[in-house]
Amino acid sequence: MTYDLIVIGAGPAGLTAGIYARTKMMSTLVLDAGVVGGQLVSLYPEKGIHNYPGYETIQARKLSDKLYAQAESLGCEIREKEKVMDVDDGNEELIVRTDKAEYHTKSIIVAIGMGMFKPRRMGCDGELELEGKGLSYILPLKEEIVGKKVVVFGGGNSAIEMAMMASTVTDTTLVHRRPEFRADESNVKDLASSKVKPIMNANLKSVNGSDKVESVTLIQDDKEFDIPADLVVINIGISSDLDDLKRWNLELTENGLVKVGFDMTTSRHGIFACGDVVDYPGKYKQIITGCGEAGTAVLSAYKFVKKPYWA
Ligand SMILES: Cc1cc2nc3c(=O)[nH]c(=O)nc-3n(C[C@H](O)[C@H](O)[C@H](O)COP(=O)(O)OP(=O)(O)OC[C@H]3O[C@@H](n4cnc5c(N)ncnc54)[C@H](O)[C@@H]3O)c2cc1C
Repeated sequence: MTYDLIVIGAGPAGLTAGIYARTKMMSTLVLDAGVVGGQLVSLYPEKGIHNYPGYETIQARKLSDKLYAQAESLGCEIREKEKVMDVDDGNEELIVRTDKAEYHTKSIIVAIGMGMFKPRRMGCDGELELEGKGLSYILPLKEEIVGKKVVVFGGGNSAIEMAMMASTVTDTTLVHRRPEFRADESNVKDLASSKVKPIMNANLKSVNGSDKVESVTLIQDDKEFDIPADLVVINIGISSDLDDLKRWNLELTENGLVKVGFDMTTSRHGIFACGDVVDYPGKYKQIITGCGEAGTAVLSAYKFVKKPYWA
């Protein structure tokens, strides 16, 4: 079979592309190398999103579930844990080769966000040994951490939000290496009135424990001290891996992201792009902008595939 559209990436942009494509009756396959939901599920599932229109606040995991359910209910085919390796030209069609199969399609939307992103490591003693044994890079489900002693590391919006969320059911400390947070004023204000205990100007020397996390050693003003911990959450950024893009022969900007036109066309015929992976002057990496670009990318793909007389 030849699909009308294959969407690469099932983050919010890719799922929205799937939803829009199905409303235009395009046969659509969405492929994701990891799990559906992109950054919302892999990086901040427990965080509340306060800027997605229509919801005063919604947990990231729930927003992803809703997008997934909407795409599926409209008849979008979605496959997880299938990484797109190559995108080749076929006979008046495109061939998408994954690590499991090969698919034929009339058009493609690239929505791979930050690619195969991974959380940045702290590089301290005990980090690798205790990962998964009380050391994590995302906040586990609230139900799993009730009553624990949690120490969160980081000074950005995400670390602050994680710490505030954890503090509703745990004894939470937030450690930042600088004297001030690098976060929105509203978050810093909310933190001040929360139960989180902040420790500023402190560095993590080691995470300690034999087969599970028991404490952390901090250095502040050249003095070392330990604080007890059952759970350590490190949130100091993400490193992205967009190596796949280099093989797909798309023109990239100096930031290594996909160059798109106003209609989300790329330099390759029949291939469109949206979400965090695209770059243009004024680009704002947010869920709502990625979803907006997805609508535009689908309209362009629809015109390309169906060539309606009125478009
Ligand atoms: C900590 C944090 C908090 C944030 N908070 C907010 C917020 O409150 N509000 C907001 O609007 N935005 C927020 N953002 C930004 C928002 O998460 C991103 O803008 C959004 O996720 C981009 O969506 P996307 O679909 O383009 O990419 P992603 O969410 O990155 O999804 C891309 C998907 O593509 C898949 N993929 C990658 N390579 C391949 C491949 N070769 N083959 C198949 N699949 C592949 C990945 O597995 C991933 O699932 C936040 C970001 C972070 C890091």
